[in-house]
Amino acid sequence: MLIDLRSDTVTQPTQTMRTAMANATVGDDVYGDDPTVNQLEKLAAELLGKEAALFVPSGTFGNQLAIMTHTTRGNEVLVGDDCHILMHEVGAAAVLSGVQIRTFPVLDDGVDVEKLALMLRGEDIHFPDTGLICMENAQSSGKTVPLANMEAVYTLAQSQNIPVHIDGARIFNAALALGVDVKEIAAQGDSVNVCLSKGLCAPVGSLLLGTEIFIKKARKNRKLMGGGLRQAGILAAAGIISLTEMISRLEEDHRNARYLATRLEEIDSCSVLRNRLDINMVFFTLPESVITESALIEGLLKKNIKISGTENGEYRFVTNHGVNSDDIDWVIESMKTLVSHYS
Ligand SMILES: *Cc1c(COP(=O)(O)O)cnc(C)c1O
Repeated sequence: MLIDLRSDTVTQPTQTMRTAMANATVGDDVYGDDPTVNQLEKLAAELLGKEAALFVPSGTFGNQLAIMTHTTRGNEVLVGDDCHILMHEVGAAAVLSGVQIRTFPVLDDGVDVEKLALMLRGEDIHFPDTGLICMENAQSSGKTVPLANMEAVYTLAQSQNIPVHIDGARIFNAALALGVDVKEIAAQGDSVNVCLSKGLCAPVGSLLLGTEIFIKKARKNRKLMGGGLRQAGILAAAGIISLTEMISRLEEDHRNARYLATRLEEIDSCSVLRNRLDINMVFFTLPESVITESALIEGLLKKNIKISGTENGEYRFVTNHGVNSDDIDWVIESMKTLVSHYS
């Protein structure tokens, strides 16, 4: 069996999901006729404390749909400086919504609210209008944003009538790490996007949530973007299992990530970025003099372990449903062998 540490997106649907998918009652969701999609959307709205939800094909889709629905062309959208929307969505906001992205600093304890306040545009013939602020929790960096910081941002945004979108791809991980109800995080924005297909193991799908009015508008934009799916209940059936049975399992991923971090520190010169160890992602550096990136990737692959290359000089190992503590022991043993044989 392959041990895949590249991401939690690699998780396979469980047997319960496959059975639910095979037996799902379906209809044409573009007509609003799919009872399973409707059930998933209702369940998600209740769980996140929002008026309405919309099933979408991916997290990228949900974020971009939120941007399109909140903004008009030429707006400026403010995002954190290392966020997914900026770094990993192929520049879609420019292509699909015609907006300009501008970044605000995210520090160790959250957004620099004073700096953000200075970035909100006033009335001037030269200025774009600030159309949206995007928050991310948990962040792509592996860190969570404290609730108080999200509240401060939302209060600021509301004072200027600027909507806030929360990229909550891993919002359930964030809630677990922060020890708060997921509703409390979702309450710090007008819309929120959540992924079903990461640690929650659904094969496909995310949800965009917000007010009834916002979701009605987003439903039409989803069609525009080519995301009006027909008998999508086959997919939503797995998503229902994600929300009813899989949220509690994230604790195991977080525990395994901390175990993995501790064991990685046994390797000479391996430096774990401990200040970013909030969820199921372990970031670390390992100098090329100890082992090169390609030697590590290829060496581990021969031992049935898949990892990604470095980004900004950092490795990222992500614990997920397919990785247990024995697997982690095997990863460490393999890495130690590779390192000792290198050079
Ligand atoms: C994974 C992720 C997304 C969405 O990714 P998809 O692969 O499009 O589902 C969005 N934001 C963050 C922070 C993510 O980690």
